[in-house]
Amino acid sequence: MSKPVVIISQCLTGAVCRWDALQLDACLYESLQAHFTLIPFCPELALGLGCPRPTIRLIRKFFNTETSDNIELVQPQTGRVLTANMDALCESFLRSHPADGYILKYKSPSCGLTNVKVYMGAQSKEICGFESGRFAAAVRRLYPNAPAIDDFRLAQPGAIEEFVERVSKYKR
Ligand code: SF4
Repeated sequence: MSKPVVIISQCLTGAVCRWDALQLDACLYESLQAHFTLIPFCPELALGLGCPRPTIRLIRKFFNTETSDNIELVQPQTGRVLTANMDALCESFLRSHPADGYILKYKSPSCGLTNVKVYMGAQSKEICGFESGRFAAAVRRLYPNAPAIDDFRLAQPGAIEEFVERVSKYKR
């Protein structure tokens, strides 16, 4: 049987695509290749933001409700609002790349599954909550039952084996 297909945040493969052009260790990526056919994807590069690039962040648009629909993705240095373009790009990529699982970068405003800081505003230092990044949110929206994990959780003892099992079960 062919290996399950898993989409992975591109910076976890050792590719230079982060906002600060820092190259991350590729050990995790190399160890996962035995189990999966890995498809790297960087939503921020795909959106044309460049590398290195000014940082982006999540902000809360309205303060009278707690739903994540009120989250906006912005680039404070340029004043750009990226939410609609990012959401459209992510959905288009996900629909055209069927996968059996997702391995995403912890805390990123694009890839983070949980614990991504939401600021009170583009220029504010105040944090008003935690959400998913926009790519991770698109994964959850389109494929709510698909196995998805971040690199932080995958580094815990036994997590790789458990994730391999979940992905194999989902594929079947
Ligand atoms: S976390 Fe996601 S958006 Fe950020 S560099 Fe990695 S792949 Fe790109």
